[in-house]
Amino acid sequence: MNLRRFLLGIDRTWAGYVLAVIAVCIAALVRFSFEPWLSGRGYLLFFIVAILFAAVFAGRGPAILAAVLAMAAIRIFGWSLGGWWSADLFAFVIAAGIVIWIAGYVTSLRRRSEESEQRAERRARRADDLAEELNLLIDGAAGYAIYMLDPQGNVTIWNKGAERLKGWSESEVVGQHCALFYPQAAVARGKPLHDLERARREGRFEEEEWRLRKNGSEFLAHVTMTALYDRNGKLKGFGKVIRDVTEERATERKLGASASHFRSILATVPDAMVVIDEAGKMLSFSKAAERLFGYTEAEVVGSNVSCLMPSPDRDLHDSYLRRYLETGERRIIGTGRVVTGLKRDGTVFPMELAVGEAVSDGDRVFTGFVRDLTQKQAAEQRMDELRSDLVHAARISAMGTMASTLAHELNQPITAVANFVSGVRNLLADNSPGDRAMIDEGLAEAYDEALRAGGIVRRLREFVARGDAEKSVEDLHDLVDGASKLALIGAREKGVEARFQLDPDARDVLVDKIQIQQVLINLMRNAIEAMARCPTRLLTVSSIPAEDGFLRVTVADTGPGVAPDIADNLFRAFNSTKSGGLGLGLSICRTIVEANGGRIWMESGPEGGASFHFTLVRADLDGLE
Ligand code: ADP
Repeated sequence: MNLRRFLLGIDRTWAGYVLAVIAVCIAALVRFSFEPWLSGRGYLLFFIVAILFAAVFAGRGPAILAAVLAMAAIRIFGWSLGGWWSADLFAFVIAAGIVIWIAGYVTSLRRRSEESEQRAERRARRADDLAEELNLLIDGAAGYAIYMLDPQGNVTIWNKGAERLKGWSESEVVGQHCALFYPQAAVARGKPLHDLERARREGRFEEEEWRLRKNGSEFLAHVTMTALYDRNGKLKGFGKVIRDVTEERATERKLGASASHFRSILATVPDAMVVIDEAGKMLSFSKAAERLFGYTEAEVVGSNVSCLMPSPDRDLHDSYLRRYLETGERRIIGTGRVVTGLKRDGTVFPMELAVGEAVSDGDRVFTGFVRDLTQKQAAEQRMDELRSDLVHAARISAMGTMASTLAHELNQPITAVANFVSGVRNLLADNSPGDRAMIDEGLAEAYDEALRAGGIVRRLREFVARGDAEKSVEDLHDLVDGASKLALIGAREKGVEARFQLDPDARDVLVDKIQIQQVLINLMRNAIEAMARCPTRLLTVSSIPAEDGFLRVTVADTGPGVAPDIADNLFRAFNSTKSGGLGLGLSICRTIVEANGGRIWMESGPEGGASFHFTLVRADLDGLE
């Protein structure tokens, strides 16, 4: 192990002290070898050198140790310093003290200068690193041209981005005046110098202006120009940052144009349009919506869409939305539905609502298109009324025709019956036995004429019931569906709820479709009319299999029930409690049902209301021919 390794192996401080001991030993050795010539003098010089060495290379502590060791060596080797208080000792201590102080001072100066040198070196290295990073950053700023001008407007620094954007390389452009980048017209207007002056005056400005590329093409540039001053406030030059915004502005213009196109469509479409977010908050409200609901867009945007609905939807809408977001189960989205809306003035109106869904940037929005059905429903109701007036008028005219036909057709047989009966009465009054044969003949003729009159009435009834039944196998569900579409027009508005409880299995019947639908329509309309003034308005159409291959259909209502005075002859013609009623509907129903092989009857419900039952022949049973 050599000395260096030994010294490095121990602590740096201890190395200093070891160095001091070695220096004193060497000094003592050298002095010892010079003893023959110096004979007891000059030892201080050697030890002062050792102390100086220790002070310079190891610091003050080791130097003090060296001084103490030197004094010990002098004592050990018997070199004289006089007594403890001699002048030699005093001089040695003073000299050693001065040497130690000076060496220590010099050492600390040296150390400080070393440190500050290191610091400066570190800073310079850091500054280099930063400058390099900054250059990389500036050069890498895609789409940005970053360059510097001197106070006169000549290019001094030019980055890679500027080269990419404008086309000139650094060597081509450094030293050139910035007017190079302006279109000719702008140069002619003095724009380059004006910009330099403006930046000097305002410190910094931004603008969008056309600029030139090396290849002569122009681009719309977003320019930021900043005046740069040194510490003394002297103008150093200008920093320019330029970005090509040609496409950006073109896209913005296109977007703006399509947005205004969209707005103009929205302002003119007749359907009201309301856009809401996932929480039901309204985001936009079209002009038609403003007209329909009576709110302005500013009033409702931000509030919950449920304020446009009457109860119960008003209270349930949030839960509808939540359920859709959780389950994805569509009830109204993508399809239209007739619902009710609430205007600002409290009017509830029928409306057709179609809802579309869109997801953009992760946000989901729902667009509702609303069509006011008030007019349409009013028109339908009017049509309905007109239709029933027409039916009424047709019945009256049929009645008139029937009455005159009856009068005409029945006139003959009845007159004949009257004549025969009167003749028979005369013969009976004469009481002559020879007249017996004539009496029998007269009575037989009267009987035949009476039958003929009956036949005429029956034929007329069949005529009203639209002649013979043309039977075919029909699906009862379809029959009921078709009939209720007609019969229930306007029923919803009258507050009537319709329920259908049709047997899912027994559904094929052998009937004349049009005739049975006529029966269903008559019964359902009678029920709706009967419930007009009742608090509960529930109409139920049901079917169940009945005995002997029949299916029983029931039309039940929650009305007042059939008046007792007509209940017995309910299915006879001309039996009516209505002021404008003809009392023919139920009699026609009976004719039709019987012509179709079934029967019809009425039962009063236990809690009031009337239930009209009729049977139809089933066509879905095995063995049916
Ligand atoms: P109209 O309807 O022209 O009076 P209908 O033959 O259809 O002729 O009815 C005869 C009468 O039967 C009605 O006037 C009414 O009093 C009674 N009626 C019919 N259906 C019902 C019902 N669902 N509830 C109560 N009464 C009814």
